[in-house]
Amino acid sequence: MFRPILATLIAIFALAEPALAEDYPTRPVTVVVPFAAGGPSDAMMRILGEGMKRSLGQSIVVEDITGAGGSIGVGRVVHSAPDGYTIGFGHLGTHVANGAIYKLNYDLVTDLEPIVLLPSNPMVIVSRNAVPAKTLKDLIAWLKSRPQPATAGTAGAGSGSHIAGLAFEKAAGVSVQFVPYRGTAPALNDLVAGQIDIIVDQLSNSINQVRAGNIRAYAVTDSRRSDQAQDIPTTDEAGLPNFHMTLWSGLWAPKGTPKPIIDKLNKAANEALADPQVKKQLENLGLRMPPASQSTPEALGDWQKAEIAKWWPIIKAANVKVE
Ligand code: ASP
Repeated sequence: MFRPILATLIAIFALAEPALAEDYPTRPVTVVVPFAAGGPSDAMMRILGEGMKRSLGQSIVVEDITGAGGSIGVGRVVHSAPDGYTIGFGHLGTHVANGAIYKLNYDLVTDLEPIVLLPSNPMVIVSRNAVPAKTLKDLIAWLKSRPQPATAGTAGAGSGSHIAGLAFEKAAGVSVQFVPYRGTAPALNDLVAGQIDIIVDQLSNSINQVRAGNIRAYAVTDSRRSDQAQDIPTTDEAGLPNFHMTLWSGLWAPKGTPKPIIDKLNKAANEALADPQVKKQLENLGLRMPPASQSTPEALGDWQKAEIAKWWPIIKAANVKVE
């Protein structure tokens, strides 16, 4: 007697998924950014969201859920319904480094579905204006000469600015005192105000304050100068050869999000990146578009796994303590 009912129910559920995916999205899509408003992740997502809206026909709502190097916001995405209405922005810090630093209650690879690789940018070593150094060599000498370590702002343990700061310590043979914030937006405010000494920051975050003369830039962690900041030398030119780091970003959905929805989001993000207006705004911040060969969800998944294999041993060897 229950058989026909069960069969009907199974048929309804079987039909439900494609129907859902076909109509998707019928309401705004929330993108969790795991760092403070006004910072580089938030800024990139808001620009991109405008472009994605044109393609999806629905608004993108950016929700900044901050704390613990972005791992709280990523956890929120992992535990959201896999229906395409809550997805998450992340980067090398949140989706690679955090797995080597925190005891996460989720797996960065198996609990998430990759959607798309997003633009990347080099880091830039910046200081408050009152630091008495004009070149990177001066800065390193100043950092070494201090009786108390200088302070370096970060977006929390495992964030891009923290990993880059650790790599800088190692490359330059210096030791700094890291000061964690909920994002590099508040860290940058404090740098401009002279409350902290340096940040190894994403170029897209610092670039406008450098242009305005409110902070000093010493080098970009790349083998070539940024087209948007031609006067900042590379680390190779400034005396720290081979200290290169690029912070890439991406979008992920909760595990189990239907493939047609992932594909729609991937298409919307790629269309947004190709939109001249979006491209211009992102490039003006010193961001670089991902290569066309890496535009699929699978490419982001493979890239994330390769980056985990590369970075975890380095980060674990640094023995980072989380307060
Ligand atoms: N991307 C972070 C932010 O938006 C900064 C970081 O990872 O260093 O604040």
